[in-house]
Amino acid sequence: YRTKRNLYELMHDIAQFYRQQLPLNIPAQSYLQQRGLSPEVIERFQIGFSPNQFGGLLAHFGKTQEDLKKLFDLGMLSRNDNRDAYDRFRNRIMFPIRDRRGRTIAFGGRVISDEKPKYLNSPESVTYHKGNELYGLFEALQANESPEMLLVVEGYMDVVALAQFGVDYAVAALGTATTPEQIQLAFRSTEQVVCCYDADRAGRAAAWRALENALPYLEDGRQLKFIFLPDGEDPDSFIRRYGKAGFEDYLNNAQSLSDFLFSNLSAQVDFSSKEGKTKLAALVAPLIKQIPGEILRLSLRQMLAQKLGIFDQSQLENLIPTQTENTGKTYKAPTV
Ligand code: ATP
Ligand code: MN
Ligand code: MN
Ligand code: MN
Repeated sequence: YRTKRNLYELMHDIAQFYRQQLPLNIPAQSYLQQRGLSPEVIERFQIGFSPNQFGGLLAHFGKTQEDLKKLFDLGMLSRNDNRDAYDRFRNRIMFPIRDRRGRTIAFGGRVISDEKPKYLNSPESVTYHKGNELYGLFEALQANESPEMLLVVEGYMDVVALAQFGVDYAVAALGTATTPEQIQLAFRSTEQVVCCYDADRAGRAAAWRALENALPYLEDGRQLKFIFLPDGEDPDSFIRRYGKAGFEDYLNNAQSLSDFLFSNLSAQVDFSSKEGKTKLAALVAPLIKQIPGEILRLSLRQMLAQKLGIFDQSQLENLIPTQTENTGKTYKAPTV
């Protein structure tokens, strides 16, 4: 326990170190300025900068063997072929990833030029299991303890830009497909989760996976919705162009779960044939079955019946039972 607490303290100190570096580096500052980030939002998200040195963290936090081990365990150091330790993050804008309680558990780092990779993230570590965390959740809950909705977006900059424009309820799943744990985590703080991904194929695929992962958590009263931004836009670029009102208008026209579910599956079948309708039922039933919320499950069943031209819904009882089945999926709380 003591060691783990020390690790959180060390991560906190490292975040402070990166913050102190930011005003000292003119290219980093002008990068953030050029991206349009206000000092307030930089402060709110504790954004910093990792200096362009192989031994920046080492010099400050790696004085003893014990310290070095901690830095390795936290994923803050790498080793070269000679087994020498060096800073993993160099010359990058640093986004501290905080857990729900506000403890810094990892970092994302963005280059300030067009080097590759554009983003470098902390590896999995004692403090960080990326599939269990949502970037920006702590900050969103700071702004509002029980937000009406949480918006799940793709990137760091999206969360930060939205917050700067007053949309302070966005979180990011950070490169991973939104996991069941992340969905569950979001639903611990709100009743409404809106997934906002790119309009491209990858974005639609990510939305579909989020839908599949969310089904076992859809108790009645919870809502899952989807928005797809126009081609070429992400939430950051969109809100800078259209403002908060433009973004929230777009948000108000979010696709409901049933819209997205049926439009996606209907596109895969030929509705004019009996076989097509049977196929739709075969595709949709295993999904709807997983939903624990009875009202939602039965209303989706009713929609399916309508699409199939079935008047007596009880004919669907075998496909989609009135009683929910236990999917065996339970939420595993992130290890703390
Ligand atoms: P920016 O606006 O700063 O260019 P972005 O957030 O729009 O960045 P995208 O390319 O849309 O970047 O990627 C979305 C998210 O996916 C990023 O915020 C980051 O979390 C993750 N990501 C992108 N590229 C990488 C990468 N090379 N390695 C790891 N994660 C990445
Ligand atoms: Mn994309
Ligand atoms: Mn993007
Ligand atoms: Mn972007």
